Amino acid sequence: MQKDHSHILEDILETITASETPEQSLDHIVRMVSERFHIDVCSVYGYNPYGNTLFLRATVGLSRESVGAIEMDVDEGLTGLVIETMAPVFIVNPSSHPRYKYYAQSGEEVYRTYLGVPLIYHKKVLGALVVQTLAEEGIARSDIGLFKNIASQIAATIAFTNLQEDRKRLDVAKPARRDRSRADSEKSPLEQNHLRGEGVSDRAAFGYAHFMFETIDFDHVHLTEVTEVNSEINRLERAFKTAKNQIKQVAEKARKISDQEKTIIDAHLMFLADKSLRKKIIAKINSGQNAEYALKQVILEYVNMFKAMDDPYLSERYSDILDIGRRVLGNLAGINEASDQAFTRDTILVASDISPVDLLAIRQPNLKGIVLSKGGRTSHTVIMAKSLEIPIVIGVEEVFENVRANDFLIVDGVSGLVYANPTPEIREEYERRQAESRKHLKKLEALRDLPAVTKDGFSVHLGANIGLLSDLMLARQYGADHIGLYRTEFPFLLRKSFPSEDEQTDLYTRALEKAENRSVTIRTFDVGGDKFLSYLDYPREDNPFLGWRSIRLSLDLEDVFRTQIRAILRASAFGKTRMLFPMITEIEETRRIVQLVAEEKAGLDDDAIDYDKNIELGIMVEVPAAVPILDRLLRYVDFVNIGTNDLMQYLLAVDRNNKKVADRFNVLHPSVISTIAQIVSVCNRFEKQVCICGEAAGVTESIFLFIGMGADHISMVPSAIPAAKQFLRSVNQADAKMALTTCLDMEDAGEIAAYLKKILPVPVK
Ligand code: PEP
Ligand code: MG
Repeated sequence: MQKDHSHILEDILETITASETPEQSLDHIVRMVSERFHIDVCSVYGYNPYGNTLFLRATVGLSRESVGAIEMDVDEGLTGLVIETMAPVFIVNPSSHPRYKYYAQSGEEVYRTYLGVPLIYHKKVLGALVVQTLAEEGIARSDIGLFKNIASQIAATIAFTNLQEDRKRLDVAKPARRDRSRADSEKSPLEQNHLRGEGVSDRAAFGYAHFMFETIDFDHVHLTEVTEVNSEINRLERAFKTAKNQIKQVAEKARKISDQEKTIIDAHLMFLADKSLRKKIIAKINSGQNAEYALKQVILEYVNMFKAMDDPYLSERYSDILDIGRRVLGNLAGINEASDQAFTRDTILVASDISPVDLLAIRQPNLKGIVLSKGGRTSHTVIMAKSLEIPIVIGVEEVFENVRANDFLIVDGVSGLVYANPTPEIREEYERRQAESRKHLKKLEALRDLPAVTKDGFSVHLGANIGLLSDLMLARQYGADHIGLYRTEFPFLLRKSFPSEDEQTDLYTRALEKAENRSVTIRTFDVGGDKFLSYLDYPREDNPFLGWRSIRLSLDLEDVFRTQIRAILRASAFGKTRMLFPMITEIEETRRIVQLVAEEKAGLDDDAIDYDKNIELGIMVEVPAAVPILDRLLRYVDFVNIGTNDLMQYLLAVDRNNKKVADRFNVLHPSVISTIAQIVSVCNRFEKQVCICGEAAGVTESIFLFIGMGADHISMVPSAIPAAKQFLRSVNQADAKMALTTCLDMEDAGEIAAYLKKILPVPVK
């Protein structure tokens, strides 16, 4: 079906402004949509979070009497699925779908297509827009984007009415705070069925929950009412027994054990054997508390009792009790201490946070997904997870209250939803989506060998950011034409000491070979910040991202730095290599680097060791201080890489890892856009190549602005390349230039995002 939607959004907006009541505007909108697009049924459903139901607010095609009369539970019907997943549901022949439900009073016929799109406003689901047609070709998958746009206009209208209604309702009944003691029927479907975080991957994963040891604490433990008291007591007994065995094993493993350590171990064992302690916990379980909560109550009681003791020695013993309590708690949650544990089935790691090092240590084929209660979208853990192609959801604050060890989880790395023990329908829906996205990927594969060129002929070199050698396979598979950023610190995070010159030369040479004639930009160590080498002594820093990090550390550890420079030079004899230096803030750093490289080259000449004499040197512009002096920095180097992650962090004063301020970390902030535009313009003026390579480089909205700036090298996580290429091939650079000018005059990221959403083609999924 050919749909002219050029004016629909403007017309909807006009309708909303011209209507006297929101109900009237909804009526007009559904009529307009149905007429313009020859849709047989167009309905808007409102969502009532208090009753967990959906009710019909406006319709064309269903009987008008059913407006206000149809009210359905969210856990049944296809529209309920839209609310539960907060994502569009498109189905051909919906009556054969397991979630299909026939509502006789609606006068519903057997429609051949169904498309439901959630109405979301400020991350809150307010209802759904549903369109249905009798003809099978009435709606196509490619229409989803159009209806998503229409839905976002409608959502604003509904948000306005809901606001008023909510106020009225809140006066009558304030919704209870979320906790486990609430009956399920009181909870919204989102609460019952899934948790919400931030999706930072491009896929979903399935597996059984496994908690990371360090991440559990009594703060995470909340009251759950239990009915199976005996099985809860058995869990507790098992957790105590396991704790006893673990402590014994620790004692046996340690070859030499001091008297003091022996006393501590004995004290722990004694405490674990203390019957009165267990009795107290069991009494609480018998009163209906879950084992974790009962344990927490009793342990904290003991902790406070010890803390209050006058004798300083005894008072300090509280920490032993807390340790034991945490160990038992870890066992209750099914957590094992060892990071070298092998997962025997598909596993989802649940943690408050995890360092990139721990992630590397624990990675294995059965690790299918990660859920963090904290985390930032450009943290190195997330970057590492992407590079390992492990779907990850961050910022799931309530994960510890709602997920138990061994729960089956669906982790949707795209929408940020995490389902614990989902219903079979949700599971099937996700399986269906996975099958579809595999098909979609196959389609994108066809793009691999096509050039990334806009419709009006602007060519862009799409590069891959890599961290591990295995990423090079992905870079080839997804069609990267160069390696725009090789983060060399990743392979060394797990080692016991700095790798030698030969080891590094060997590693970089292998990278160049695997890159198969693509140029590889090797960045020198960027450690500190959120990446720490276990073999390096770091000072305690209040602000590690502002401290001893990256090039500062390299320049201070000159021997280590020289070794790396030599290794990169030696590898350059085996393929097109460029050397990149991170976090440059001042000219003096660059002068020193250039001098060090020259000295190392001379040393290799003396030893008659081969290397690329014309190797290009580049700097990362990612500290705002480098921007006003860029013209002078460029005197020393051949190229620039823009690190949008750090540039945004330092420009906006927003910690890239801090979830609390994650929504302020926005590449569409006008200052970010104009700073990047300035960097690109200076580089173009001085004819120095510039490559944009932070996480923003993989996002279509920002790519559009980047090409408007004239950036012709963009490097991203390999899996983002096909979609970026497809996008570039569908737009004009001339339009991007105009859009950039318009955006640079706008006031804030919200305005820019809304504008880009309106003008950009909708990605085809
Ligand atoms: C950046 O800062 O954008 C960047 C590419 O480097 P990293 O993420 O490794 O700091
Ligand atoms: Mg950086």
